[in-house]
Amino acid sequence: MAGKMSKTNVAARAEQRANVNKTCRFCGQEIEVALVVVGRGKTRMVRLCCERAGVAQDQGQAAG
Ligand SMILES: [Zn+2]
Repeated sequence: MAGKMSKTNVAARAEQRANVNKTCRFCGQEIEVALVVVGRGKTRMVRLCCERAGVAQDQGQAAG
């Protein structure tokens, strides 16, 4: 039954979505990222949540 949805229902769903977006899809923890300087003014996004959870990050080659 695809009926009409109440406004409160929609709001609740939107909230649920927001919560999902805040969850990292790699480690499942709350997303926490940081910009780390890798040299010569270059910065790189690092997922602190994954580091804490011990999940390997697949973001290209290691700086070296
Ligand atoms: Zn993560």
